[in-house]
Amino acid sequence: MKQMDADIIVVAAGLSGLAAAIAAAEKGASVIAFEKAATTGGAANMGMGPLGVGSRKQREQMVALTPGEAFRKHMFFTHYKVDARLVRDYYFKSGDTIQWLERMGVQFVGVQRAFGAPEATRPYSDGEFTWHVVRPEGGGVPGPRAASAMIKAMTEYALDLGVQFAFETPVKEILMENGEAVGVRAVDKTGEEIECTGGAVIIATGGFGCNPKMIQEETGFEFGKTIFNFAVPGMEGDGLKMAWAVGAGKTPCTMELMYQLPDNMNHFILDGAFRQPCLWVNRMGERFMPEDQIGNTTFTGNAISVQPGKVAYAIFDEALLEHYKKNGPDIISHVHPHDLFDHFDDMWERDLAAGYEPIAQADTLEELAQKAGIDAAGLRRTVEDYNRCCEKGYDEIFEKDRAYLQPIGRGKLYCCRQNVGAYGSLGGILINHRTEVMTKDYQVIPGLYAVGTDACNIFGDSYPFILSGNTMGFCLNSGRIAGENAVDFALVEA
Ligand SMILES: Cc1cc2nc3c(=O)[nH]c(=O)nc-3n(C[C@H](O)[C@H](O)[C@H](O)COP(=O)(O)OP(=O)(O)OC[C@H]3O[C@@H](n4cnc5c(N)ncnc54)[C@H](O)[C@@H]3O)c2cc1C
Repeated sequence: MKQMDADIIVVAAGLSGLAAAIAAAEKGASVIAFEKAATTGGAANMGMGPLGVGSRKQREQMVALTPGEAFRKHMFFTHYKVDARLVRDYYFKSGDTIQWLERMGVQFVGVQRAFGAPEATRPYSDGEFTWHVVRPEGGGVPGPRAASAMIKAMTEYALDLGVQFAFETPVKEILMENGEAVGVRAVDKTGEEIECTGGAVIIATGGFGCNPKMIQEETGFEFGKTIFNFAVPGMEGDGLKMAWAVGAGKTPCTMELMYQLPDNMNHFILDGAFRQPCLWVNRMGERFMPEDQIGNTTFTGNAISVQPGKVAYAIFDEALLEHYKKNGPDIISHVHPHDLFDHFDDMWERDLAAGYEPIAQADTLEELAQKAGIDAAGLRRTVEDYNRCCEKGYDEIFEKDRAYLQPIGRGKLYCCRQNVGAYGSLGGILINHRTEVMTKDYQVIPGLYAVGTDACNIFGDSYPFILSGNTMGFCLNSGRIAGENAVDFALVEA
């Protein structure tokens, strides 16, 4: 067995692990980060950017939100069922963390709310400009994977600081001595075991989004049946299991819900095209929410998750499609291409010909109901009622914004089944505001820290969409807090 040692051992080099490693190295510690994959960044390579509140970038753009206001909004959203002190420390650090990243060479295009839509569509009018969208490498319009430029800059900076990365070397066990974390056991790609000892261990393994068994056990969702989440390879819940094995308290775990098409990255145009406030029904053919809110992917994921079969159907007709093609989407997602309806026909024909199962096209409501698996009588009734509302210009059921009241039935019908999706899992390891891991009795396990999604217990039951960029925001800031505190523990208090 190979022996190694470092002041601070970081278990994984995803977003939160990188932040922790850098923060610790900046305080003069020697740092080793063991990483299961062949590269850094984990799921963060797929995203667009983190939350920050009170950053210089915001001030430049006249965004006046303060950390205190964000804290109160967050706590109101979560009904105070989360650790207020941790939430407070996170928001108050988050603005400085944006400058910290800029000093490493990360550039931000600007600050955004999660989605763009008229003020009257209520979820957005609440949304704050907190999402710091990373300028993609080489410039251009930011989209999925823009944040990989941030990971690259962080990794280069970590290497400059002397952080040592052990790639393709998953950690298997936290080593304990007299109730204190003193190291890890890892296995490298040749199969050789490594025992690494150190002053503190920081767990940052990104949750269990790629572990169907754990998803079912911890959240009740069935991967590929009732949930179609991003399953980024490697996120198998290792950190949670290792922490629980050494006595860490277990918190409820959730999935970071949204909605998406199965295999959505390969059907991205349709994924975006049907995120419109057209007609949305459940399997019984009944409407279940005001469609002007469907751009709030958290609310919509939640709403779909309580429908029969945990599915919904978005339907528009040829006339509405023409409207989208001419005017662009009613709700603009910053994630999907802004010109997605220019590509709609090609993608629709391609996927229809390939038998892509969630989509259906028909000439009549009955044919659509039959092809899509919706109750035909229910759909017929709903469309009649809905069209009457459209004629009156007033939605008697949900008071949907009248700008989106367009009758259904003018030409061909297009339908897409919507499933519950998720970015990944959230939470599991009990920590305090110093990110120290605690037992179920709230006793600190000395030398053990947990950060990022493994320890993200601050959202309550739902992602706070009103303060977007929140998962990366928590990962970066919890990572920084852990790195700093772990050094104090390992070097100063030792
Ligand atoms: C498509 C997509 C888009 C997103 N966009 C955004 C966005 O714009 N803004 C935002 O705030 N959030 C976004 N998110 C969420 C965000 O990317 C994640 O929440 C964040 O990356 C999680 O950070 P983490 O450090 O917890 O885990 P990750 O960054 O995923 O890193 C976990 C790491 O742990 C490693 N690992 C696992 N097990 C072991 C082990 N046993 N030993 C060693 N290493 C191990 C993995 O290989 C991985 O590198 C997005 C997510 C997805 C999937």
